Parts: sequence; C-alpha cells; structure tokens
Amino acid sequence: LIHKGNGLQVVVGLGQSGLSVAHYLAKQGYQVAVTDAQVAPTLAAQLPDEIEVRQFGTIDAELLQQAARIIISPGISLDTPAIAAARHANIPVVSDIQLFCEACTVPIVAITGSNAKSTVTTLVGQMAADAGINVGVGGNIGIPALTLLDNTNMELAVLELSSFQLETVTNLGAKVATVLNMSPDHLDRHGDMLGYHQAKHRIFQGAKSVVINREDALTRPLVADNLPRISTGIHAPDKGQYGLITDGEGQTFIARGTERLLSADKLLMKGRHNLLNAQAALALGELAGLPLESMLETLQQFTGLEHRCQYIGSFANIDYFDDSKGTNIGSTMAAIEGLGAVYAPKDGKLLLILGGQGKGQQFGELTPFINQYVSQVLFIGEDGKQIEQHLRATKLSDDVALHQCQTLENAFVTIQQVTASSLSQVQAVLLSPACASFDQYSGYAARGEHFSRLVAQLDTAQSDST
Ligand code: ADP
Repeated sequence: LIHKGNGLQVVVGLGQSGLSVAHYLAKQGYQVAVTDAQVAPTLAAQLPDEIEVRQFGTIDAELLQQAARIIISPGISLDTPAIAAARHANIPVVSDIQLFCEACTVPIVAITGSNAKSTVTTLVGQMAADAGINVGVGGNIGIPALTLLDNTNMELAVLELSSFQLETVTNLGAKVATVLNMSPDHLDRHGDMLGYHQAKHRIFQGAKSVVINREDALTRPLVADNLPRISTGIHAPDKGQYGLITDGEGQTFIARGTERLLSADKLLMKGRHNLLNAQAALALGELAGLPLESMLETLQQFTGLEHRCQYIGSFANIDYFDDSKGTNIGSTMAAIEGLGAVYAPKDGKLLLILGGQGKGQQFGELTPFINQYVSQVLFIGEDGKQIEQHLRATKLSDDVALHQCQTLENAFVTIQQVTASSLSQVQAVLLSPACASFDQYSGYAARGEHFSRLVAQLDTAQSDST
C-alpha cells in the first residue's frame, strides 16, 4: 500500500461521486474512510471491502480531524460544522474534480454556468464523438468524473461542473473553459452573488483558452489578455467570433464573423436561448480542435434534452411544454422569452406554472417577462405564495391572472377551467417552475414526468367527453 504514509483520506457524503472517490482512492492504495449523515446510505453496499471505517448517521467531526485530506461531495456545504472545523485546522478539503484534474492526462473541456450546462456539455460530447474522437463526458451530468479515467483510451474529457464542485477546485488547467451565463441560483448556499460568481470563476484557473458570452459581463474571466478566446452572443459577430445574423427576409443564421454557418430553422432544439447554446458548443469545439463541418452536422441532429423546454403534445389547440429543469429564474426567463417569441406575436399568450422550493431568489425579476408574454400564472409548491407576493410587489400588469394551486393536479383543473373560456388567449402551457422540486418530488425529472402524465390524461378526458 504505497500511499498509506500519505495519511487518511476521508470521503464525506456517499452519493455517486463519493462512491467513485472511495473506489478510486482505494485502488490507488490510500487508506480511506467514509462518512455520511444518513444512517444507512443505499450505496454503502457498493463500497470496496478494504474500506473499514464507515461512520454513518452523522458527519463524524472526530474522524475528519484525523484526515490528511477530505474529499467532499457537492451536496454538502463547506459550512457544515465538522467541515468548517477541519478547514480551520488546515486540513485540505477538495472535490472529486480536484482528484480528476490531477490525474487526467488528456485535454479537458470544462463547462459551467447557471443554465444550459447539460445541454452544451451533451452537445460538445456528441460533436467530439461524431468527429471520431474517443471522448468521456461526465461531472455534474450523472457520470462521476473519476469513472471516466477507467477508459484508458480517452482522448478528450468534457466536464459539466457545478458551482459546488468548483468551490474546492484549484488549478483545473482546462484546454478550454467557459461560464455560459450567470443568473442568481443556489444563493441559499453561496450566500450572495459574489460567492456564487467566485465559485464559478474558479473554472478559469490555468485554462489554455476561454469562451465568453458577450451579453453577460459576469461570464468574462479575469485572465491574461493574450489567452485565446472566442465570444458568443445574439448580435452580429466580429471576425472570428460567433453570433446571429438576420437577412433581409427575416431568416436568422448562426454566423462566425460574416460567414453564415447554419440557418436557425435547421436546429431541432427550440427557442432563441438554444441558438446561444449551439454557438457555445461550436466555440468550445473549435478551441478543442474539432472540425467545423462535422460540428454543424451534429447540431442538425441534436434534439435537445428531456425536461428542457421539451414539447410534450398539443390538446384543444394548446401546446404543452415541460421545462421542469427550469429551476431558477434565469432558466425560466429564457424559457418564457424563447417560447414567447414564438407564441406572443400571434396574439396568443403563455400559461406559466411556477413554484416549488424558491432557494431565496427575487422572483420579481420575472415580472417584465410575464407582462410581455404570459396571461395566466399558476403557482404550486411550498413557496407559491411567496412568489405571488414578489410578483405583486413589482410592476405586474393587471392583465395577468394569478392562481394559487398548490399541486400540479390542481393546476390542471385550473388549466381546464381557464382554457374552456372562449376569451382565453392561452396558446401554450409552460411548466418552468424557477424552483427546485424537492418539496413535492424526488427531483425535476419526476416533476416533469408527472406533468406529462397529466397532459396525457387531459387527452383521455377530452376524447371521453367527445
Ligand atoms: P443545467 O445543466 O445548467 O441545469 P440544462 O441544459 O439542464 O442546464 O438546462 C436547464 C434549464 O435552463 C432548462 O430549463 C433550459 O430550458 C434552460 N436554458 C437552456 N439554455 C439556456 C440559456 N442559454 N440561458 C438560460 N436558460 C437556458
């Protein structure tokens, strides 16, 4: 056991990433202990046998004091008393991403942001795979980063990184790094925008090149001026940059400088925000050395991810969209605007379902978007009332009707009442809650699936009555 002398490695939190860390360190010959606040974490059965110290039921402060290094799961706050005490005692606290970047020998594409991380990460991964590159895609996207190292033929790693994973990472050294966008999220844990911003910007430490969102100053890194960089945005781009060009007939193109690369209607993903996501993927791919032609092919095949402004179906001339992954105000703004641009010009309006766990956000920031594109807002979840107060306290238009529904079931009763009226302008129903789902669901996917089931029942109910 070559590393035993390096001292005890304590893994805090036994989720998928904690489990991958335990396996990784045990395989390297470290002495490893695991602790978790749950009494019987389900993944405990999958720990390697050689890990003898397993302290469950509380995060064991005494165990942490014996650690040479602590590897913390993204779900656990650095302010947890036992962790804070260990940091105070100068014990290093890192995430699995730190172990990954220290061991990874291939270029890393590193992606963070408040929204669109999974969409862009999946897209870049697909672009690399389609270009014939042996690529590993992981991080915050379901596959723990360390497990990617099992593939010894990997040529490129594409990582989605959350602010929690980044807050304990030093010198990531990515081949190309980006903060896609910045809007308030997780302020309940980061305290304020500054803390959240600082965590996200750690992604740029040691980066060889960067991608910048021109319209979002908070994404701009503090890095040397001569570092290769490409920007993206909704306006016409300068030479070498990505942007959008609209021709005399009103047709929009994704462009690089003056070159029109792809007509927007060739994309299967809907909404203007996805034109930005496509540009981000192209820019990241370019700096990672992927061929343009093949990336453009991939873009035209990509249908987007589930629960992200996903079209579910159409009943009684109303289209239903599941944006359950819209868990903060930034993503909900993008969804309202992205779909509103399609429905509102035709004199129609959106019916918006908001609510769940609000995470300390200022929901009044949604008001201008609601005034422009929405005629009905339905609230669900534990913070539904608070969100209504925030909207009323800002300049909400009198034309917008508000309904407290508590649950999605009730919301669908209201939807039927509202849309039965011949005066209803509703052309599309959008579930984009701007909130976490854990008050009522196991996660955003369960919430989105419930929405889809209720839409399907609407269909049955309607065909029964006709
Ligand atoms: P993340 O992994 O960052 O949560 P996802 O790709 O899963 O990102 O998308 C999360 C939410 O953000 C979805 O509701 C989606 O509709 C919305 N979204 C997608 N692209 C953007 C964008 N460019 N700006 C703001 N919101 C976006």
